[in-house]
Amino acid sequence: MPRVGLGFDVHAWGDDRPLWLGGVHIEHDRGLAGHSDGDVVCHAVADALLGAEALGDVGEHFPDTDRSVAGITGVTLLARTVALLAQAGAAPVSVDITVVCDHPPIAPHRPAMRRQLAAALGVSVERVSVKATRPEGIGLSGDGVGCLAVAVVT
Ligand SMILES: [Zn+2]
Repeated sequence: MPRVGLGFDVHAWGDDRPLWLGGVHIEHDRGLAGHSDGDVVCHAVADALLGAEALGDVGEHFPDTDRSVAGITGVTLLARTVALLAQAGAAPVSVDITVVCDHPPIAPHRPAMRRQLAAALGVSVERVSVKATRPEGIGLSGDGVGCLAVAVVT
């Protein structure tokens, strides 16, 4: 029977950091802070994958205290999550993602993000949806403090 998982992640903007979203390096004046590369898209998808199989969450499997997690790329974290799922006899089928941030524009990077995510998940690009919306200056990411992503997977 298909199972559904929901994932959410948010990181604060940090100076002197490269910006990685969905496994794609995006030229921007700042990046996302964090112990890893701060890729909120990959982290939200990983959390959704774990959620679909009730396997805990990203913080549990990839804790800040684990030195192998320091600087880990989003796609590597995703691939390791897919491997955890495989041990449980499960595999991703499709994913739908929404990125919420005022800057930078996501649309130009959508095809590359879909390709990177599809490769990490082992699914076809047609099964990966990346959407974006701007928070209109309001709230968690709209105040310019950070960028967030939500994901649903089957
Ligand atoms: Zn994260």
